[in-house]
Amino acid sequence: MRIALFSDIHANLEALDAVLADSAAQSCDSHICLGDIVGYNADPVACIERVQSLVCPIVKGNHDQDSSNDSSLDMMNSNAAEAIRWTREQLSPEQRTWLARLRLVRQIQDFTVVHSTLDQPTSWNYVTNKFDAMASFSYQVTPVCFYGHTHVPRIFVSDKRVHEVPAESIVIEAGSKYFLNTGAVGQPRDGDWRASYCIYDTDRKTVHFRRVEYDIQTTQAKIIAAGLPEFLAERLAHGR
Ligand code: ZN
Repeated sequence: MRIALFSDIHANLEALDAVLADSAAQSCDSHICLGDIVGYNADPVACIERVQSLVCPIVKGNHDQDSSNDSSLDMMNSNAAEAIRWTREQLSPEQRTWLARLRLVRQIQDFTVVHSTLDQPTSWNYVTNKFDAMASFSYQVTPVCFYGHTHVPRIFVSDKRVHEVPAESIVIEAGSKYFLNTGAVGQPRDGDWRASYCIYDTDRKTVHFRRVEYDIQTTQAKIIAAGLPEFLAERLAHGR
């Protein structure tokens, strides 16, 4: 089975469609969404509908949660909060309920998926170094776990010790555990503007990282037309 795993779509329909086209060309037979379908960009309704049409496992991200309820956004940075307020107005009551009911952690075959961390999935902490990864590894019961939230592709390995390896294609070795970040579809933050996702080949035990170009000008024009902060359009071009 070749599974396309993707995270942090953030209402970027052009990036999502480019990823879905690429995963089809790469002979993927199923999909898994690691959360943050909405937030930041201008196509939350269409992105939810697209993900729903895949009929695939999904876990909830913090932007999905914040868009699904009317909680205070005081702790959030102002650009993100403005986009959440706008997103709440775009979504139907049914879509907000659907987002609210998504699960935080899912185990699928021999792997696990979560948006933020396995040790405290409701706290929305970021795994950016091996010490953060150690905390998740202590709750990881499957050999492989995919996560998102940081918008940066990463691979942490736990064998004799926990260490980070470059986010490139790897073979899953028996006896080791892996905590892998797929990067972001709709707002990468590793300096590369192209949409990021992973392909897990469960027969060959390989993970491939893919980068896909998309029509960024259209995405940026939609953000401006929606009246969302201009900064959200600018940052896409810088991959930040
Ligand atoms: Zn995100």
